[in-house]
Amino acid sequence: MSQIQFSHSRVSTFEKCPHQYKLHYIDQIITIHDPAADDALIVGNALHTGIEKGETVMLDWYFSQYAVIDDRQVNESIKLVALLRKLQERLTEFDGDFQHEYLIDRPDFKGFVDLMVSNPDGSVDIYDFKYSNNVKNYLESAQLHLYKFYLEREKFKVNRLGFIFVPKTNIRQKKEENLYQFRQRLTETLSSMEVDVHYVDYNFQKVKRFWESCRKIEAVTAFPKNPSRLCDWCKFQKYCLEGVDYMILPKNERRQIGTVKRKTLWIYGSPFSGKTWFANKFPGPLMLNTDGNVDFVDAPFIRIADDVIVEGRITKRKLAWAVFKETIDELEKKQNDFQTIIVDLLEDTYEHCRIFMYDKLGIEHESDNSFKAWDMVRTEFLSTMKRLLNLPYDIVLISHEDMTKDFTKKTGDKVTRIAPNLQEKAALKIAGMVQLVARVVNDDEERSLTFKTSEVEFGGGRLGLRARKIPLEYEEFVKLYDEVNQETMPVEQEKSKHDRKPKTEKSVESVEAASTTHNEVNSPPTDDDETPPWETSDEKQEEPPAKWPEEQPSTVEQLSSKEKPTTEEKPKRTRSSRSA
Ligand code: SF4
Repeated sequence: MSQIQFSHSRVSTFEKCPHQYKLHYIDQIITIHDPAADDALIVGNALHTGIEKGETVMLDWYFSQYAVIDDRQVNESIKLVALLRKLQERLTEFDGDFQHEYLIDRPDFKGFVDLMVSNPDGSVDIYDFKYSNNVKNYLESAQLHLYKFYLEREKFKVNRLGFIFVPKTNIRQKKEENLYQFRQRLTETLSSMEVDVHYVDYNFQKVKRFWESCRKIEAVTAFPKNPSRLCDWCKFQKYCLEGVDYMILPKNERRQIGTVKRKTLWIYGSPFSGKTWFANKFPGPLMLNTDGNVDFVDAPFIRIADDVIVEGRITKRKLAWAVFKETIDELEKKQNDFQTIIVDLLEDTYEHCRIFMYDKLGIEHESDNSFKAWDMVRTEFLSTMKRLLNLPYDIVLISHEDMTKDFTKKTGDKVTRIAPNLQEKAALKIAGMVQLVARVVNDDEERSLTFKTSEVEFGGGRLGLRARKIPLEYEEFVKLYDEVNQETMPVEQEKSKHDRKPKTEKSVESVEAASTTHNEVNSPPTDDDETPPWETSDEKQEEPPAKWPEEQPSTVEQLSSKEKPTTEEKPKRTRSSRSA
């Protein structure tokens, strides 16, 4: 009997790239989740949520997956609603009782059947949802054949095997059209799309080939890389091909539950809202200050600014980013008794990093270097921030808030998003590295910390909270951690199936241990097939099931119909505000 509980996706991953298999299933490396608006896993899960719970719950769930939403998510929500309605209409043609997400949990195999429909003769038809236009490829898949084989071991009589294809459209807004025109074109495109059902004949040879692959996996001792264009869809790409590890979260090891070892927090708010004052309340603070605004706090501080030394006729300049990195070097030695490190302001350190990299690369702007410099700046910044966040202190990052960006709702209303004043891609990664992101609000002299009270407010972090708002007091903040720890669940329980609840509570330590996505509390359920990012382990701790992900193409041939990774956004070349 196999020691490994195989799944269709597990074997598919190995066949695509043994090294990806190792990183995911053996090393169990978890990465920061930074999803695109049309992330297939999220969209697929949202649609499945819609089938079971309706349109409103689907949209709530979809929006909750993002730190903050903009026009891209609204565009995707238009697609979701249109496709859900088409799917619901199509399902009305099926007679019989529906059973969603049936779990096949055998010692040697695991899978989730998306939909079972009962027939009058006692047999069932089984279906798998695919959010894809790659019909031909999926019709060759072994997935439903495996489900039938293992269901029949559980005394089911399986009649038909069907794939339900929800079509995809990747149309983009053209330069010459405005958002309203684009959304009209999108709606017209969606109206002409159809949900297709394709049946396949059972083929036991596919089951046998699956077993052969399983035996091969059990026997291998080397897991070589298999670089191909599919790497563009691999969540380990940067780590594997470039050695960049800022996207990698701490190892998934059990830790003592119930003891808060340290806190990592990113707060943002308007000037004079009380951010620095609040951070100053943390025990044993050391401020790494960029703007000189330290008059109203008593914490010792290090000024993070260019250091100019005049030696005779020679003037030497040590750039602020070098000062920042040297400070981290020093803190890593742990030869001090500070308990909390505060970075005030985070966006200034990002600007310092840019200037440092310009100097290093001999450029004046990121665009001078075929745009690769954007990536290099961000990698330098995030790798250093990861070092900081790994230090054994409480860490508080402080940012101003940015309310200069609007997005347009489906109704056409403009809404202002509230987010930290940090370059967006860097912001999403930082949100994945900290336990909490909170906004400091100063309302009629009542100061509070809020935790993503709406989809227009940037939020995230890896700690699930029930509270949406607390007074801006350190004691109140500590109580949050106490509450989370009291509601501790073992990691295995957290990873139990069907965890599609929009909000759950987790212990600080178990959250650290599980080290999941930036929106951990809202992370989408994972799949039993088609290479979900957080799917299975070699032990029997499978993540909950995701639905219909087409996260990455299964073969190079599929690439033609796949959307390419999005191109780099070009941030404005401006210094961040230094008003305090
Ligand atoms: S980046 Fe490519 S080679 Fe590396 S693990 Fe991913 S798929 Fe394999």
